[in-house]
This record gives sequence, C-alpha cells and structure tokens, in this order.
Amino acid sequence: MKKKLTLFALLSVLALSVFTGCSSTSKTAAKQEKAKRPIMIQGPMPIEAEKFAGKLENVKEEKSGSFVFYLGTLDNYPVIVAKTGKGMENTAAATAVAIEKYDPIAIINQGTSGGHDPDLHVFDIVLGERTVNLGSLKTADKADNEGIDPTIWKPMDLMASEGSAGEDPNAEKIRYYDGDEDLLEAAKAVKDTYTNGKIVEGTIGSADVWNNEVDRIQWFHEKYGTSVEEMEGAAAAQIAGAYDVAFLGIRVLSNNKTNGGAYNPETASANQEYVYEVVKEYISTMENK
Ligand code: SAH
Repeated sequence: MKKKLTLFALLSVLALSVFTGCSSTSKTAAKQEKAKRPIMIQGPMPIEAEKFAGKLENVKEEKSGSFVFYLGTLDNYPVIVAKTGKGMENTAAATAVAIEKYDPIAIINQGTSGGHDPDLHVFDIVLGERTVNLGSLKTADKADNEGIDPTIWKPMDLMASEGSAGEDPNAEKIRYYDGDEDLLEAAKAVKDTYTNGKIVEGTIGSADVWNNEVDRIQWFHEKYGTSVEEMEGAAAAQIAGAYDVAFLGIRVLSNNKTNGGAYNPETASANQEYVYEVVKEYISTMENK
C-alpha cells in the first residue's frame, strides 16, 4: 500500500512538472509573438497612406490628435500605416507619438515629391540614402535697407550643440540624416518589381516650402545635393534618430520643375505598391536573422 502511494505521488509530480513545463514554453512563445515590434509606414496625405492601409490584414484604426494609425499585419507581421498630415510639424509629432505608443522597429516615410535632379522624371523613385532639412538656414548679416539675398544664406545645423545656433560658427553646416542600411538593402533588393520608372539612391530635402523657382531648386541641388524635395522626411528622420529607430525615406517624383515634368497624383499609389514590396522583403530578411 505504502509503495503504491509513493509511486502515485511520484507520477503526479512528474505529470505536474511536464504540464507546467509545457505551459511555460507556450507562454514564452506567446510573449515573443507579442513582443514583435511593428514596422511603421508614414504617408502625409490620404492618397499617400490609404492605398497601403487597404493592403494590410486584420486592420484596426486608432487616432491620436489628428493622426490616424491603421494597425494591421502583413505576412503575419505587425505593420502600422500612419496618416500624418502634411508638413514638418505634423510629421515630427506623429512620429514621436507613434514611437511612444507603438515602439516601432523601423519607420519608412514615403509619398510624393518634386524633382531637383533634371535626370529624374515623374514616377521615378528616390531611396533616401540621406535626408536633410532645407528650412534650416541662417541669413547674412545685413543692415536696414541692405536687402535680402537668399543665395548667400548658410545652412544651419540645429543639432550641432545645445547652445545658440545663430552665434555658433560650428553650426554653419548641413545636417544629413542617414537612411538605415538594412532598410536600404531591402529596398534595393526589390527594385525590379517597380516598372513605372527608375529607382535611384539619393538625397531627400524637406521643408514647409513648395519651391517653384528653378534657380532656387538648382541652388539646393548643387549646395545640398538634393534629388527631390518634399515636406516631411527630415522631420521624421530627426525624431526617429532621437529615439534610435531605423529610418528610411522613399519618395516618388510627382512633378519636376527642372525638366517640365507635370504634377501627377497617380504617382502616390505607385509608390505605395513599391513600398509594400520593400516591407515584405524587410520582414523576410528580419525573420531569417
Ligand atoms: N499639389 C498637391 C499639393 C500637395 S501639398 C495637391 O494639390 O494636392 C504638398 C505635399 O506634397 C507634401 O506632403 C509634400 O511632401 C508633397 N510634395 C510633392 N511635391 C512637392 C514639391 N514639389 N515641393 C514640396 N512638397 C511636395
């Protein structure tokens, strides 16, 4: 009798440990599943975000202020499309809010842009090897009645120090934000899927300004090396950098004043189709790591 009881006790302990062992592994798996950090795709205008959002699965919509976030999955990986609104302020705020709320592993800021490089045409795409704020400028010193001379304005790096940028000669330089290498690799790997134009690596310039003066566009092209201009990329890059989140800008030309390329809003959805392929590729490379 005693022997039987001991055997029973032993079996029970064994069964219990197998059971708890099992449940703790499945708990860890569930945790890992939960811990997948989403990839965030930003688009300023409805035509630059909603196409991508419509391609996600299991979509749930959330709002913060005026920013709309479409939370869904792509190939079973969490992806969030953010409709940020236009311009630097909306984009910076939407980026910070999203990082605090959703902890993305990577951010792609994408949409339309105006060409600065005469070799690029409407529907061509620029992968932002670098992004730069074109509104960060220091004017010349001129007294009353000495006029305005934008061609001698200097770049100003607001990130050079915590002190006064206006007084600091070390701040008289261009601040570039580098695109993330893994995101760039993923984008280059699927270049061939895009058939509406060519895809090049280049420099994306941003400011709350729409430049229509060809001489001014050429000035930026020469001084800053810009391939295109838009109104969001550098703001998102700066904030992504502040939180150490991988970042890439991907911009399609919707017009190009330097070679007569007329504005075409259809470019916005073509870009999203391509960015969708980039995200798929990025997910597959992450899962192989
Ligand atoms: N022509 C558009 C105006 C869009 S406003 C319309 O009437 O609907 C500017 C938006 O387009 C910004 O989000 C900006 O990123 C992008 N953009 C496209 N081309 C641009 C250009 N040449 N200069 C500045 N922003 C441009």
